[in-house]
Amino acid sequence: MKKPALLALALFMSVASAQQEKISYKATEMAPGIVMLEGVGGFAGGNLGLWSGEDGVVLIDDGMQPYLKIMLEAIEAHAGAPVNFVINTHVHGDHIGNNAGMSMQGATIIAHDNIRERLVRDGVTGANGKEPASKHMLPEITFSDGVTLHLNGHRAEVIHVMQAHTDGDAIIFFADADVIHCGDVFFNGLFPYIDLDSGGSVDGYIAALDKILAMAGSKTRIIPGHGPAAAKADLESARDMMMTARDRVRALVAEGKNEDDIVGMNPLADFDADWSWGFITTERMTRTLVRDARPGN
Ligand SMILES: [Zn+2]
Repeated sequence: MKKPALLALALFMSVASAQQEKISYKATEMAPGIVMLEGVGGFAGGNLGLWSGEDGVVLIDDGMQPYLKIMLEAIEAHAGAPVNFVINTHVHGDHIGNNAGMSMQGATIIAHDNIRERLVRDGVTGANGKEPASKHMLPEITFSDGVTLHLNGHRAEVIHVMQAHTDGDAIIFFADADVIHCGDVFFNGLFPYIDLDSGGSVDGYIAALDKILAMAGSKTRIIPGHGPAAAKADLESARDMMMTARDRVRALVAEGKNEDDIVGMNPLADFDADWSWGFITTERMTRTLVRDARPGN
């Protein structure tokens, strides 16, 4: 490469990295009063759901701590009022990073029992490693199987799905508005992160996708945990891909192949172009499937 080309490349790279810091939220209306907020311009955490109307404002997940101000501006622009309730879809920091910030502004946090338990027991990862979760981060209302909110002329069912992405996942089903927020039980067009160390499992993940599919119709608007707004067909491809991937890897584990051999054989090669991404590469997905397939993983 000649010098001017190198300089141009260096300039491009620095512009690209400056761009990474330019986070904003893109809003997509899913139904009247229900908006999906998706971080753009860099990684801003999971997709948010914003539900507003005459009775109040509900936020589904609250993103990552550094982007609190940007998130509040987006909420103000699209809801025009402060948040009354925050629903946590699961325990990961890119989804509940602003629990404390929202709680201190008067919001009540609702989450599965296991999210509160994990936060109390394990704390959170902060700038200096693990630290105890402050009381403001902890959900004030917890549930085991589910809870239903009746607000703004709609009904939102918060439904726990067992051992899927973690052991504290919830999906939010707006039956009459025909919208579903899936949390990280659905990564649209991306290999999913299945957090085996936090109680997730591959079979649970697939069962959760099947459960959501049973609720969805051809017109249902779907908010994934990550990736663009989706329709039922996108959910079906994610489920089909996961079943095929699981079965291929399980067959190799059953033959007695070890993890590195299986990675070398690359049984997910044909999924690489469509599903692999920076966080969950084809290799990482394969290793998760191997680990999940082993008895007593
Ligand atoms: Zn997650």
